[in-house]
Amino acid sequence: MYRNTSLRAVAAALLLLLASQVAHAGYTATRYPIVLVHGLLGFDSIAGAINYWYRIPAELERGGADVYVVKVDPVQSNEVRGEQLAQQVEDILAISGADRVNLIGHSQGGLTARYVAATRPQLVASVTSVGTPNQGSTVADVIRAGLREGGISESVVSSIANGFGNLINVLSGGGWSGADSVAALDSLTTAGLEDFNSRYHGAAVPSGCGNAAHMVDGVRYFSWGGTSVLTNVLDPSDAALGLTSLAFVFDERNDGLVGRCSSRLGYVIRDDYRMNHLDLVNQTFGLVSPFEVKPTTLYRQHANRLQQAGF
Ligand code: CA
Repeated sequence: MYRNTSLRAVAAALLLLLASQVAHAGYTATRYPIVLVHGLLGFDSIAGAINYWYRIPAELERGGADVYVVKVDPVQSNEVRGEQLAQQVEDILAISGADRVNLIGHSQGGLTARYVAATRPQLVASVTSVGTPNQGSTVADVIRAGLREGGISESVVSSIANGFGNLINVLSGGGWSGADSVAALDSLTTAGLEDFNSRYHGAAVPSGCGNAAHMVDGVRYFSWGGTSVLTNVLDPSDAALGLTSLAFVFDERNDGLVGRCSSRLGYVIRDDYRMNHLDLVNQTFGLVSPFEVKPTTLYRQHANRLQQAGF
């Protein structure tokens, strides 16, 4: 009897120890730091990268992740932004003592992350693109065509430009000395992405809506995207995305700025969440579809996926 009791006590102690270790490991406790890379777009309140990922960093940290929110030039080419990010990744590695990072990029941030992964693969364990135009954005194509003709006259094009182009102008005047809105735009067109993909791990980008390599040069690639535009009647940003989505004249499903197929990169977690381009970063202020999984949950699940993969 005494022996049984002591065995039970030992077993209970072991279980407690195990449980505490599991708790310590945490659902989102990845081996490498998670680095969040913002996109081109940002309204005033989210241009400062701190709030861009609304409540997402805290949700990831709560489960044990080491999270870094970086800030790069909001209006620049993928390459210029990529060099800025590479510098910050070096700093993060020095600060954290880690030897690699997990990059998660929203919109153009995914292309920024891809640039760093392709030019410094030894520093990057994984790249995850969220709502990134990996094959370019039809919206950027339409605006670019309008610029090329020397003026945007047609009403539809004008509406699209109001929803998208004005943001570039606003951000251009936001004190970024190196801002280059034409370079930024060219980094997002279909032609621009064909060129980009020919140089920076394009094997992870599918043709059309197909599948592509999950790993290139030791870097693992993941992605997810959305295909809804109007998701929450209380969110004023839905209207702007409703205008930009007019660019998708052939009924390609899109998130307001990026088509479903273009969002695909590496291992596709899902390309058709009921989310628009800003819902993907839990904006505006958490106003997202009540009929879909929460954006913050997607990030937590993905951190756990990275953890399970040993990243
Ligand atoms: Ca929203």
